[in-house]
Amino acid sequence: MTDRSTYRVAVLPGDGIGPDVIRETLKALDAVQSRVPLSFEFAEFSVGAGEYLRSGDPLPEATLERVKEYDAILLGSMGLPNVRWPTGVEMTPQIDLREKLDLYCGLRPIYLFQPQHTPLKRYVAGEIDFVIVRESTEGLFSSRLQKYADDADEVVDNMRVTRAGSLRLFRAAFELARRRRRKLTLVDKANVLPSMAFFRRVFDQVSGDYPDVETERVYVDAASLYLVERPHSFDVLVTENMFGDIISDLAAALVGGMGMAPSADIGDRWAVFQPSHGSAPDIAGRGIANPVATILSAAMMLEWWDTETARRGARLIRSAAQQVLSDPANRTRDLGGPLSTTEMGDRIAAAIRSAEA
Ligand code: ATP
Repeated sequence: MTDRSTYRVAVLPGDGIGPDVIRETLKALDAVQSRVPLSFEFAEFSVGAGEYLRSGDPLPEATLERVKEYDAILLGSMGLPNVRWPTGVEMTPQIDLREKLDLYCGLRPIYLFQPQHTPLKRYVAGEIDFVIVRESTEGLFSSRLQKYADDADEVVDNMRVTRAGSLRLFRAAFELARRRRRKLTLVDKANVLPSMAFFRRVFDQVSGDYPDVETERVYVDAASLYLVERPHSFDVLVTENMFGDIISDLAAALVGGMGMAPSADIGDRWAVFQPSHGSAPDIAGRGIANPVATILSAAMMLEWWDTETARRGARLIRSAAQQVLSDPANRTRDLGGPLSTTEMGDRIAAAIRSAEA
């Protein structure tokens, strides 16, 4: 994107804690525009379970068409366990959005800001620092909309892996590794599933174009072990949709839980930035959700725009988060601290306003 002064953001607060964490994120972005020469125009759209109850559609086609016109989409969270399709299946408009906008590259950065946030002993801040790249348009999720009869005796889900889908995913992962510490770990189950053996073969082909990036191949079960045993050894991990879904929650637990795990779903044209967490109905409406994951997702949005000023804005957010979280007293309830959602948001916004640009 060329350097510009105004960025238009479609804001989708969604359900549960979504509106709370989005409110704090907009505060942070407001602080950013007071520090660097750029400004934001925010337009809010209603999506999710709340929108389904209003209009019968959690992601209306007209809304989807409109949000495509923006420079990025910032999403809180969507879905509530008690709001379901008449078939009884929970609605997952966030997955529909990924598929409809072809957002194949799910980025989940995992970073330890504060030793007290991790259940692991002996890790200092910054020592756990890796990114999971999750394929987000095919894999084991591709059967998710299939219907089956009430009296079915068997239901089969397919792991769909295509050459084109894998090639674009691996290229994005190798490029990311090149911008980081140049190590890429493939997570698969190539020893058992033919689709995963194929996935690995495509990975091996692409790796030939990136001789400067060290590669490692691990089965998903072993990856779960290594993520806990030696998380410091990872730089970038790439995997299929369902495995990525599972290991990103595991990885979030290493750095403080879902409230600390940002994410971005990137395609060739559009991108959605949202926390890795869902609507957290167990804590919704209590003012205790941790907004850090969403605020860091907004920093990823600024980075994705890839202009000098936007990158400066992203650095401001990240160093403000770092500064606030380096004080062990600055913890929300999920991290064992006393801060409310608003107090955490206020502290990060204040740190953005006072941090060095
Ligand atoms: P989904 O299926 O949509 O990913 P989920 O039902 O798996 O969602 P989440 O909504 O991500 O679950 O919540 C998982 C756990 O993490 C819950 O106990 C929730 O309270 C907690 N949690 C999630 N987000 C936050 C947050 N921002 N702050 C504090 N706790 C959170």
